[in-house]
Amino acid sequence: MNIHEYQAKELLAKYGVPVPAGHAAMSVEEAVAAAKQLPGPLWVVKSQIHAGGRGKGKFKELGEDAKGGVRLAHSLDEVRDHSAEMLGKTLVTVQTGPAGKEVNRLYITDGVDIAREFYLALLVDRESSRIAIVASTEGGMDIEKVAHETPDRIHTITVDPATGLMPHHGRAVAATLQLDKDLAKQCGKLLASLYEAFVGTDASQIEINPLAVTDKGELMVLDAKVGFDNNAEFRHADLADLRDLSEEDPMEIEASKFDLAYIKLDGNIGCMVNGAGLAMATMDIIKLNGAEPANFCDVGGGASKEKVTAAFKIILNDPSVKGILVNIFGGIMRCDIIAEGIVAAAREMDIKVPLVVRLEGTNVKEGKDILASSGLAIIPADDLGDAARKIVAEVKQPA
Ligand code: ADP
Ligand code: MG
Repeated sequence: MNIHEYQAKELLAKYGVPVPAGHAAMSVEEAVAAAKQLPGPLWVVKSQIHAGGRGKGKFKELGEDAKGGVRLAHSLDEVRDHSAEMLGKTLVTVQTGPAGKEVNRLYITDGVDIAREFYLALLVDRESSRIAIVASTEGGMDIEKVAHETPDRIHTITVDPATGLMPHHGRAVAATLQLDKDLAKQCGKLLASLYEAFVGTDASQIEINPLAVTDKGELMVLDAKVGFDNNAEFRHADLADLRDLSEEDPMEIEASKFDLAYIKLDGNIGCMVNGAGLAMATMDIIKLNGAEPANFCDVGGGASKEKVTAAFKIILNDPSVKGILVNIFGGIMRCDIIAEGIVAAAREMDIKVPLVVRLEGTNVKEGKDILASSGLAIIPADDLGDAARKIVAEVKQPA
């Protein structure tokens, strides 16, 4: 689960992380009221969407010359004008994809005079099974470019979970960021707070970009992106309130109600599978045959009729779906039960796009017989390669 920048900063502040003062706002009036509570004379009006790159982003409804999604304001009038221009508009950034995201919340925050900008992130490094600290002096709005062109300017150290964060980690990060004396001390303290926040909330990432040195010689977090490990959700009931459903795909929310894992993609073949590994293999083989998956819906272990019906509904809700590939391995759940579920769901749904079904596993013969005798236009497949070739041929046929 991801949260907004203002929520991330409020959370980090509780752990002692230094952030500029600020308030969230849902309307122009709230934005001006928020600015009045801050000292000025410089404010920053920041679009709150679950994507980075806002500063360099463009609003769809505004011209190419219009300012981006993070704007400085030198007066309350400017706060008002920027807020009015940004609210309700669609912000397109390198991270949102071409569709962009509608801005419904703003964050009004103290403007800071920046002397230097760094990049600092904590994340779970799967390779070392540790929390990794990633730091670079090249912070700001072009970190993707730095990672691509000068990867040697990005330094990573990992933390042994047996010892937790040690003072030497703080010194190493301070050295990387070329901070000495008091700033090095602040850096050690900041890192300790970030680490405590990371472990305490079961975060999957905390990304600070930029971490700034202000003209007053203070380290300050100016932008924060925080994501949590969904598997630890049950341990953090309080964090659930931070979820902003308007930032999530409506069909993914619908799927989660049925305990289905649904992921929207860009192609035109809908995939119903059981298990994440089979989902990956199914998508790979569709691509190998020259087409692209539109989505995948993982019905998990117990593929009941209700679940299969819900999965068909969710897959078919996507207008880009021109064909469906069902690829299910009957292990604990027998193929005949799955086949009955597919037939019942297909009858109820009146599916108009080609449907290829590949079953394998326990009672596969009985399962195939049920599909064949259903009278429905289900195209059976013998193995994964056969299934992929058949569905790709179907969707590639001229209409
Ligand atoms: P994004 O990463 O989505 O573009 P940021 O929050 O990093 O958004 O803002 C973009 C840039 O705006 C930052 O790199 C920084 O230079 C500037 N900025 C952000 N917050 C402040 C602030 N409180 N005071 C001064 N400048 C800021
Ligand atoms: Mg940023």
